[in-house]
Amino acid sequence: MPFLTKKTGAMKVSALMPSALRVGNGVAWQEDEYRPSNELAGFEGYGLPASAGKTPQRRMCGNSECESGWTMPWRNRRRPIFEGQWGCSGRCVLAMVHAAVRRELRDGGASADLSPHRHRVPLGLLMLAQGWITHPQLQKALAAQRENGSGKIGEWLLSECGVEAEQITRGLSMQWGCPVLTTEGFSPEAMALVMPRVFVEKFGLLPLRVAGSRILYIGFADHLDASSALAMEQMTGLKVESGVVEGAQFEAARSRLLACEGVEAKLETAADKDSMAARITAVLEQKQPVATRLVRLHQDYWLRMWLESGTVGRAGNLPVSHEDVKDYVFTIRVQ
Ligand SMILES: [Zn+2]
Repeated sequence: MPFLTKKTGAMKVSALMPSALRVGNGVAWQEDEYRPSNELAGFEGYGLPASAGKTPQRRMCGNSECESGWTMPWRNRRRPIFEGQWGCSGRCVLAMVHAAVRRELRDGGASADLSPHRHRVPLGLLMLAQGWITHPQLQKALAAQRENGSGKIGEWLLSECGVEAEQITRGLSMQWGCPVLTTEGFSPEAMALVMPRVFVEKFGLLPLRVAGSRILYIGFADHLDASSALAMEQMTGLKVESGVVEGAQFEAARSRLLACEGVEAKLETAADKDSMAARITAVLEQKQPVATRLVRLHQDYWLRMWLESGTVGRAGNLPVSHEDVKDYVFTIRVQ
């Protein structure tokens, strides 16, 4: 029979559980607490001890509605740790996952999906206004786009009108109000571990490099994606800087990244959010991660699990090897 201890008012909430708030003698999970990116930089928020000396002997359940009212000795059930929280039972882990899914459903991708539509000057008009292209060049590109029924205007300006790629990238940068980024210092092996490759394939983005262990640069081919940038910031704890990368440079770097071994990612489809939460809980109980994070990119829920505390990368929470972490990407079936 496991040794049980009644929670008491004197029990100190561990600093390793940053989102746990004391409420009376219990603990409530403050699920929607605002955590600016600079406070996510350490790994403590993911539930890993900052140092062995601080390892608590007991933990409180991270489920705000936990009915046991007990704490278990740390050694009896140490894992899984989900977003910095320990659950005393599978039932409590499920409740914590449900809360995280609700949060992501509400907040994830908010900046992309919910922000008021921001008018952007069409690229062709912007470049015309800057005097970078002539009216005949724009008309020719628009005609080619219309006749073919596809393609970005920038691509037609490049292929049909002799406009320099660099000039088009400059136009995109002005259109999106973001910097032009280059692939200088790009390490495909390291960047292949940053996110599941399915996101690189689907969302037209590319992790470029980490600067000073603080900033993750993400390059985009032709449009910025605020939802992905926000999710990457939440997942890595790094500040994300987005920018456009010149087309050929982007494609070359992307091919090199996709040729590298990435983190193993399982893609699953769930019938609804409840069955997804149940599935995530089952995965957590099976893999027993020391740290976990759930974020949403558009309609994809990305669960990343750190399997060993010794596998923590130096820059943010990026893995140093493809064996350090496991990824799951869930989509909810459209009814
Ligand atoms: Zn519990």
